[in-house]
Amino acid sequence: GELSYDLYKDFPKRRPVKRPLRIAILTREPNNYSSQRLKDSAETRGHVVEMINTARCTLAIDASDPDVYYDGKPLPHYDAVIPRIGASMTSYGMAVLRQFSMMGAYCLNIPEAIGASRDKLYAHQVLARAGIQMPVTAFAHSPKDTANLISHVRGAPLVVKLLQSTQGRGVVLAETRKAAESVIDAFRGLDANFIVQEFVKEADGADIRCFVVGGKVVASMMRQAESGEFRSNLHRGGSAKRVRITKEERASAVQAAKALGLSVAGVDMLRSSTGPKILEVNSSPGLEGVERTSGKDVAGMIVEYIEGHVRQVPPRRAGK
Ligand code: ADP
Repeated sequence: GELSYDLYKDFPKRRPVKRPLRIAILTREPNNYSSQRLKDSAETRGHVVEMINTARCTLAIDASDPDVYYDGKPLPHYDAVIPRIGASMTSYGMAVLRQFSMMGAYCLNIPEAIGASRDKLYAHQVLARAGIQMPVTAFAHSPKDTANLISHVRGAPLVVKLLQSTQGRGVVLAETRKAAESVIDAFRGLDANFIVQEFVKEADGADIRCFVVGGKVVASMMRQAESGEFRSNLHRGGSAKRVRITKEERASAVQAAKALGLSVAGVDMLRSSTGPKILEVNSSPGLEGVERTSGKDVAGMIVEYIEGHVRQVPPRRAGK
C-alpha cells in the first residue's frame, strides 16, 4: 500500500497535554545515553517513564482486550511509546509496538515506518519515488552480471555495501574496475545481498546527519572520517563536528523522513557537487553525538513533540 501518513499537520499548533503521561521506552539498552536522556527529559517534565525490554514482552492477541505481558505480568496502557528497537529486533519489535498502539498508545514512529526504513531496498525505492536525490545505486542478489552492475553506476571508483552492514563494516571502496569486480565476485560467492553505488568523491570522507523531529530538522552534525578513510562512522575513528546545513539539505532531510512516514529520524546525507544525496534514514537515531555536537536539547524536543501528539484522554483498559 501507499505510505501516506498525516503526521505533521497539527504540529506544533495543537496544544500539548498538561497531565503527566505514562511513557514506555522500548529498548534493550536502558542504560545507554539516548534512553537515559529521553527518560530524564520526560521525568523532568513530570511524566512517568518505564524502560521496557522488547525481548521480554509477550503479546496476548485478543480483539476486545489486547495486552502485553512483561515477565508474565500485564503491562499498563501507556499514553506513549518511544520505540528504540535495534536492527536485530525489528520484526518482533514492530509487533510489540503494534500491540501497544492497539492498546491506545501513541507511537513515536509507527511500526510501518520503522519497517520501511529498515528495509534498505524498499527505503531506496520509497525515497526515489518521492524524488529524493541519492547516489546512483544498483541492487543485486548474487547477480550473474557484474559488468552491467558496474556500468550502471558509471564504473569505478564505486562503493559496494553489504545490506546487513552497520557502522560502516560492510562498506568497501573499489578504486578500479578490477577491484570492483573482485569485491563483487567475493560478495556473490557468499550469496550476500549488496548494493553497488556511485562513489561521491567530493564528500571527502564527510557526511551530514540531520535529526528530524515532527517535520523539522532540530539538530545536525557533520562526521568526518580519519585521514585515509572514506567512511565517516564514529566507530571507524570518524569525528563529529558542528555544521551549518544549507536550506536544500534541510529540505531534503525533512522530505526523506516524511516519505518514509517517520516523525523522528536521523537522515544521513553526502554533500555532492550537485546538492545533497541521501544515504540512509534511521528510525532510532542516537542522541549522544548530535546533542554533544550541536548543544541542542534534542531529547526535550522529542518529549515536547509527544506531548503534542498523545490522546487528550488517557487510554483505559476495556472493562477494567
Ligand atoms: P553503514 O550503514 O554501515 O554506516 P553507510 O552507507 O552509512 O553504511 O556508509 C558508511 C560511510 O561511508 C558513510 O557514513 C559515508 O561517510 C561513507 N559513504 C557511504 N556511501 C558512500 C558513497 N556512495 N560515496 C562516498 N562515501 C560514502
